[in-house]
Amino acid sequence: MVLLKEKLKEIETESIKKEVKVGIIGAGYVGLVTAAGLAYKGYHVLVVEKDKEKLKKIKQGICPFYEPDLQRYLLEGIESGRLSFRENISELVSECRYIFVCVGTPIKDDSTYDMYYLDIVAKEIANNLKNNFKVIIIRSTVPPGTGRWFKKAILRYRRGLTASFEVVSMPEFLREGNAIYDFFNPSRIIIGSDNYDIGKEVSELYSDFGAPILIVSLEEAEIIKLASNAFLAMRISFINSIANLSEVFDSNIENIRLGIGLDPRIGTEFLKAGIGFGGSCLPKDLSALISVFNNYQINPILFEAVKIINDERIDIFINKIKKALWNIKNKILTVWGVSFKANTDDIRESPALKIIPKLVQEGAFINVYDPKGLHNFQNYVQKNYPNFSNSIKLIENIYESTVNSSAILITNDWDEYKRVNYYNIYELMETPIIIDGRNILNPLEMKEIGFEYYSIGNNIR
Ligand code: NAD
Repeated sequence: MVLLKEKLKEIETESIKKEVKVGIIGAGYVGLVTAAGLAYKGYHVLVVEKDKEKLKKIKQGICPFYEPDLQRYLLEGIESGRLSFRENISELVSECRYIFVCVGTPIKDDSTYDMYYLDIVAKEIANNLKNNFKVIIIRSTVPPGTGRWFKKAILRYRRGLTASFEVVSMPEFLREGNAIYDFFNPSRIIIGSDNYDIGKEVSELYSDFGAPILIVSLEEAEIIKLASNAFLAMRISFINSIANLSEVFDSNIENIRLGIGLDPRIGTEFLKAGIGFGGSCLPKDLSALISVFNNYQINPILFEAVKIINDERIDIFINKIKKALWNIKNKILTVWGVSFKANTDDIRESPALKIIPKLVQEGAFINVYDPKGLHNFQNYVQKNYPNFSNSIKLIENIYESTVNSSAILITNDWDEYKRVNYYNIYELMETPIIIDGRNILNPLEMKEIGFEYYSIGNNIR
């Protein structure tokens, strides 16, 4: 009897899903994952993307960036007929009760968030609102107060608005490189709303995800997202500071990390020493949080320290390279890793973007290898460092990237680097030196093969 009831409830939920139309604005890492994931869950999803090139690819079922498994879910969604894409927002606004806003919120030169894309979306929604009630769900990362501003902006653009709508803040916590996994297995669902009933309604969309759901105020949701990223950034800067001390005493930071992390109040996650955090979120959101604090005359000293420590990682790594090599002028150095971490082609704020130009300026020739990030890096160099084209060589084969090299510099953490045959690489290099900025290789194994191996927070070589 109980089983029958459960089955009936499941059938009822499934048929409700089929009727619910969800709109997604912006098909980037967050929007496309959300769209493909919700379509897989049974919802009808309509996506609007402004970038014509991107849209063309997506419509053909080609994922415009590398994210493990996303391609498969995208194709499946399109083939099921539940996932479709448009360039124009009007159909989305008229047909979808739930509108997820997933556009970018980059930071400006003054380190405050650029609200330009959100403002445009507010205007576009306002211009297309008719009589049906809409729930607008902001998934972009934003400073506190944005949800309220968004509401106000819509009302301003639509003077004498009769249609009613509610704005909800629902921060996204996915990790690039694990985004599909994170979509289906979220650590928590945070829903910020002034209207509890609407918050509850939105939570129903995620009721079968098995994650804790917290309904809070608009601003609380916005602060939770910024504070979560700041906390993760703080852990990385924390362990990197300790790594500096560890090196002075010829200690191994991995042992220290384990010893700290065995305290259940601390844990070992996000305590990996290295060349610092990058990516499209942590650096941006940390800088923006500092600006928010300054804006409200709150002392941001904790977060400033986190940022300073992270910025210093680049010079610490460069000094390590110079110390290990004595001279880098006219030497070939191999950089493994231009994406900001493994399993993504996203190079935004990747430490390698700062490290490589500094080495070139000192006269080194750089062979660059990355399993997925080379294309984006090539565009980046052409745009920002056109004069460096003779000094930077992009190589698509990991072994080839080490030929006649004076050192391998590991700047992100793809698994592939652990699987290569280091005996072969030893033979290919001019001087077998590895400087591991992500502590991913085994120091003793490297030493046994004959490498001089340097890592972070670990003077053992
Ligand atoms: P992204 O730059 O990859 O994607 C944003 C997309 O929105 C782009 O394709 C852009 O063309 C499109 N767009 C902009 N204005 C539009 C409009 N008016 N109509 C339709 N499309 C429009 O950005 P992202 O990495 O997906 O991040 C989106 C937001 O989510 C940001 O605020 C980011 O901070 C936040 N976030 C990102 C991640 C992540 O890992 N990437 C994780 C959590 C939160």
